[in-house]
Amino acid sequence: TNWQVSALNRLEAVHSSFKYMPARTIRGGCNVNLILMGLPGAGKGTQAERIEDTYPIAHISTGDMFRAAMAAGTALGKEAKGFIDKGQLVPDSVTNGIVKERLAESDTDAGYMLDGFPRTIQQAEALETITADLKKPLDAVINIDVAPAKLVDRLSGRFICKTCGATYHKIYNPPKVAGTCDRCGGHEFFQREDDKPETVKNRLKVNIEMNTPLLDFYQKKGLLHTVNGDQDIDKVFADIKTILAAVAK
Ligand code: ADP
Ligand code: AMP
Repeated sequence: TNWQVSALNRLEAVHSSFKYMPARTIRGGCNVNLILMGLPGAGKGTQAERIEDTYPIAHISTGDMFRAAMAAGTALGKEAKGFIDKGQLVPDSVTNGIVKERLAESDTDAGYMLDGFPRTIQQAEALETITADLKKPLDAVINIDVAPAKLVDRLSGRFICKTCGATYHKIYNPPKVAGTCDRCGGHEFFQREDDKPETVKNRLKVNIEMNTPLLDFYQKKGLLHTVNGDQDIDKVFADIKTILAAVAK
């Protein structure tokens, strides 16, 4: 899709400027391998956008990858659609496979952030193997914590720029100029199919059940950092930057 191409171009631009920086800046600044965790609507995509615009970390959203595959009508897209439309999880075998391929790409060498993956313990265990094989171990898991009761509102007001993928909310985070994307100047927006009320409820139920065991999994590994996601978007980002500064290699 358009916005993925533009995201890729942006990433390439960041990376090509990055190649000429001294290695010390790279290591000292931002070479971090992350998971952004949080229930649907917690603000992972919103924060990923800011992280991506500030640090040369590749943003890997399994949801975005599935939506791109659905839009392109690929076999993966057709397989995923049946699950996504019902608010269910796509089977682990499928999801683990696309993450494995994606993490093998070289734009993740300077750091990656996974958004929406892992969502099950089986995925978390698969990720351990994948990152060990690729020698790209996790540095931190950032859990964006928001009470479930707030999330229906966030998801039902969400809309997204067709050109660059920037996420807005009709009340909490509208574009500065109505109808124009702050980030790329685009004028076309869409709502996600699975943000309609019937699907939202099931998505939240499925994800809430899986969330606590996953948090325990990363807590035990000493990787878990929790930020309060029920604050201004800029304040959440400031808290995330503090964590990134502490864990950057
Ligand atoms: P996720 O990627 O975790 O599903 P999003 O980043 O898409 O969540 O955010 C869901 C919705 O909530 C969007 O409409 C977004 O603009 C809005 N949002 C994100 N962060 C905040 C926040 N801190 N306060 C209020 N609304 C927010
Ligand atoms: P998201 O964009 O993260 O809200 O994901 C949208 C939908 O894509 C989810 O409701 C699932 O159906 C599917 N999906 C995304 N990531 C995963 C994952 N890690 N495991 C299983 N299904 C996923």
